[in-house]
Amino acid sequence: MSVTHVVGAGIAGLAAAVRLTKAGRKVVLHEAANQAGGRCRSFHDAKLDRIVDNGTHLILGANPALFEFLKAVGGSLQECAPAAFPFFDRQDCKGWTIKPSKGALPWWVLNPSARLPGTNALDYLGGLRLMTAGPDATVAQAVRTGEMLDRLWGPLCEAILNSSPQEGQARLLGEVLKRTLLKGEAACRPYLAPLGLTAALIDPAVAWLRAQGCEIRFNHRLTAIDSGALVFDDGERARYYKDVPAILAVAPWVASDLLPALPRFETRPIVCAHFLLPKPEEKLPGGRAYLGIVRGLGQWWSLRGDVLSVTVSAATDLASLPGEDIAAKLWAECALMLGQAPDLPPYRVMKEQRATLAHTPATERLRPGPFDGPPGLILAGDWTATGLPCTLEGAALSGQRAVHRDFLSSPC
Ligand SMILES: Cc1cc2nc3c(=O)[nH]c(=O)nc-3n(C[C@H](O)[C@H](O)[C@H](O)COP(=O)(O)OP(=O)(O)OC[C@H]3O[C@@H](n4cnc5c(N)ncnc54)[C@H](O)[C@@H]3O)c2cc1C
Repeated sequence: MSVTHVVGAGIAGLAAAVRLTKAGRKVVLHEAANQAGGRCRSFHDAKLDRIVDNGTHLILGANPALFEFLKAVGGSLQECAPAAFPFFDRQDCKGWTIKPSKGALPWWVLNPSARLPGTNALDYLGGLRLMTAGPDATVAQAVRTGEMLDRLWGPLCEAILNSSPQEGQARLLGEVLKRTLLKGEAACRPYLAPLGLTAALIDPAVAWLRAQGCEIRFNHRLTAIDSGALVFDDGERARYYKDVPAILAVAPWVASDLLPALPRFETRPIVCAHFLLPKPEEKLPGGRAYLGIVRGLGQWWSLRGDVLSVTVSAATDLASLPGEDIAAKLWAECALMLGQAPDLPPYRVMKEQRATLAHTPATERLRPGPFDGPPGLILAGDWTATGLPCTLEGAALSGQRAVHRDFLSSPC
């Protein structure tokens, strides 16, 4: 039986390997690092003596490709039902909780306690403008400036597109709103990984693939693509063919290095600071283990045991500061709001400088499809044209789509 090579053991490569293996293919998965997961991984932090993630990941019910992957490998996440998203405005110190409606119609906008304080239902028509925007419009252009941009659409744009509202593509944010808020409560339900992303998503996939006979080769870096062969750092050459393709599921900057015909994509950083709380908290303000902060520095807080993780997306300026300064700034805000001691507790700052693409209208035009690479080399990864922002769902979908019907009907 011929071998199908998959390069990159992030969610996209793992999802492709799972689908191929389920279809009876013999798969070799090559990964440059010594662990799988890529931009979605956990590790033991010695200073905190806790397992932490490289960044808090929000997973929603509206992630069918990710859940298909999870089901196939026997992974599990903790469901938070019913969906509710508490927010707190740092400037006027007011809170509110968005509780998505059961069905497709967003009745919640008619409920004053679910709306931003001081807004009326008509203010939410900006959501419709995002969904119907043309490809060149940014979020700020589609919803126009004002309070709703500062307090709702802007924060959503940063959280979902990891791009500022002045540059994020309106249509892409609208697409996510269609798949979540317009699909009802179940689609908006958050799913958490209490033991970390690696335990929930990655370890089960690696174990399942190995149990099915898939060979996973860590510390095996692809260094070149040369005349129909993948060339690895130990000199190994693995051939691929039009009818026995390989799948390239590496990060966008690696793909552009290996295939110079691909565009060079702009990326944006995400900063995540993990704090070991001096005084444990059972819940965050708003009654959940997570909280959105508007018009503050930290944007998304999440609580896992005695670790509070604070995420800042589209964090170009913040990511340029030293970790200690970032921790001090973010902790000052947390200590004040939670009534914790102001002294900086043990912390770990993660700066993912190239967390996702910059989802600008210009970038969106350039994202390639799975078959836009050389013949026989299929492209996968969150950065390919999935119709979604760079997310776990986009990554899983790209990996599954790479294993298309023609691929499976080609000779084994
Ligand atoms: C801090 C942070 C927060 C995020 N928050 C969220 C969130 O809340 N919700 C959400 O859905 N998504 C979130 N994301 C995005 C999500 O993590 C990514 O979209 C997803 O993990 C990308 O998966 P991928 O497989 O496409 O790419 P990657 O994870 O980048 O995987 C590529 C793999 O290829 C390997 N590789 C690279 N070069 C080579 C080579 N030359 N040879 C062999 N292997 C190679 C890498 O080591 C890596 O394992 C976040 C990302 C970050 C960084």
